[in-house]
Amino acid sequence: MKTKLFITIASILIGSAVCSTNASAMDFNTTFTENMIVDDSRSSFNLGSCKDLSEDPYTVFLFLDDNESSWTETEVSEFWYNSIETGYSYLETEAARYGVNLELEKAGYATDPSHGISLKYNGIVTANLMEESVSHDIFDQAAASLGFSSVEDMNQYLQSYSGKSQVAYVIALDKPGRSYAYPAQAPSHNSLIEYCVVFSSNLNSTVDTSAATIAHEVLHLFGAEDYYDPYGTTPKRAELAKTLYPNDIMHITATDVNTLTAGAFTAYTVGWTDTLPSECNNADWWQ
Ligand SMILES: [Zn+2]
Repeated sequence: MKTKLFITIASILIGSAVCSTNASAMDFNTTFTENMIVDDSRSSFNLGSCKDLSEDPYTVFLFLDDNESSWTETEVSEFWYNSIETGYSYLETEAARYGVNLELEKAGYATDPSHGISLKYNGIVTANLMEESVSHDIFDQAAASLGFSSVEDMNQYLQSYSGKSQVAYVIALDKPGRSYAYPAQAPSHNSLIEYCVVFSSNLNSTVDTSAATIAHEVLHLFGAEDYYDPYGTTPKRAELAKTLYPNDIMHITATDVNTLTAGAFTAYTVGWTDTLPSECNNADWWQ
């Protein structure tokens, strides 16, 4: 028997980090041409389980404990209202600027002994994937911890429960760390069930950037690409983006989310518009 989704967050008991996601931009091998076909210009769009953010997805937050951190009910509640609600309101507001009316339903699982639920990673989740090997089994363990036989099993259940074909997963850890996303980046990943990992606070920072980080990572799941260049593979795009989209949420997250925008290219990569912005008709953007 499946674990019941016990929080539908309206009645639920009521971070973050600079994203280090292995962004699709770094795998962008398309050569710029005058007649580039649309899908080559947004290489992570319409792939994996989270295809298109112009259609309402369902989001499930998994408040995961590990061997060195755990969520209290109060901490879950505070994170929900301060970070998740703020980040998700931001996404709805930004979508509306492009004429897309999103109503983002969301729910969560957290450890709840009174219901016999323990959402626990057996081990210590890597806090900084730039320095340590990433915890690749985090999603599998989260699903298993809830009683599902696999991630696919959990996804099928939640698709049915929500009535939505797209379910986005956000795994939240109650400790400092560097958040990341695991999006599909190529047609061969099309069956991938995508998820992201966010931390309740940033590494080496006292600024609360969690709402911005949640929005940033969820945008990745639907196809958005980083503008900063953590791996040094797209230096020309990174430079150009500073001019074209200086406050874009895919460029920076280390601030209040409401000072950031989803620029025209970000909107294009997640399906809020189907028009490639003219400012991207620049060879440096595609390198
Ligand atoms: Zn990122």
